[in-house]
Amino acid sequence: MRFDIVTIFPGFFDSVFAQGIVRRAQAGNLVEIHAHDLRSFAHDRHRTVDDRPFGGGEGMVLKPEPLAEALQSLAIPPRHHRDPGGATRVVLLSAQGRVFNQAMARQFAQLQRVVLLCGRYEGVDERINDLYCDMELSIGDYVLSGGEPAAAVVVDATMRLIPGVLGNQASGEFESFGVADAEIDADIDGVPRSQHGSGGLLDYPHYTRPADFGGLHAPDVLLNGDHAQIRRWRREQQLRKTLRNRPDLLEQAPLSAADRQMLETLRNGG
Ligand code: SAM
Repeated sequence: MRFDIVTIFPGFFDSVFAQGIVRRAQAGNLVEIHAHDLRSFAHDRHRTVDDRPFGGGEGMVLKPEPLAEALQSLAIPPRHHRDPGGATRVVLLSAQGRVFNQAMARQFAQLQRVVLLCGRYEGVDERINDLYCDMELSIGDYVLSGGEPAAAVVVDATMRLIPGVLGNQASGEFESFGVADAEIDADIDGVPRSQHGSGGLLDYPHYTRPADFGGLHAPDVLLNGDHAQIRRWRREQQLRKTLRNRPDLLEQAPLSAADRQMLETLRNGG
């Protein structure tokens, strides 16, 4: 899979993508990431990429011509000349976009190419959005000074779902926000058989050695080797954490009768 990032700060990505899984994914030729300097598509002496907004008001706006030229250099024609079902998406990073989530990361991971346009200042001339972009994408309800951190988030969350990138493929399927439509693989006591199955809930808490730390003991249930009990405890912890931090996820998550009973208990202070 290939990511192209159009930015006025290509150097921003040098260290971000030079560590850990994303570095290994590139070294293993599973992912290509290219950051393109928008200023190299400006032709005046000052390599100007921004201008004042029509209609007045604060700040500057990224001009359309350098962005269009950058896209042309990447062989991206205007949207109307592309196959909408094709394997490329052009994404404008914007606080006004749909909010990025794990389901979108899963969809992106099926594509061959994602082109990410990073705005700066007050944003990008809207005609670039209209002419070239398949979608506007936000990484959350706050305003960044530029699209670069958002592009890094989208690349990171997507590339780790590409088959072969994670050492253990199951880690990508069974963590927080894991496949919401996953069947609950219930065994007789209604507890999912998977050790990690998140089924649209948040992940459960993790512990490792030492068993005692900072005056706190790791939960005994995790140390006793009874795997049915461990699965049941982990499911309860997932429900507990999701209820506390993201109750909205419970509306979509496939819950078993035992889950619902557990939630009832938790809601009643259990
Ligand atoms: N005037 C814009 C608004 O109020 O929506 C904010 C512009 S912001 C200062 C500059 C650039 O940062 C945007 O063009 C966009 O590329 C990026 N950006 C800011 N917040 C973002 C977010 N939550 N998600 C993705 N990109 C964001």
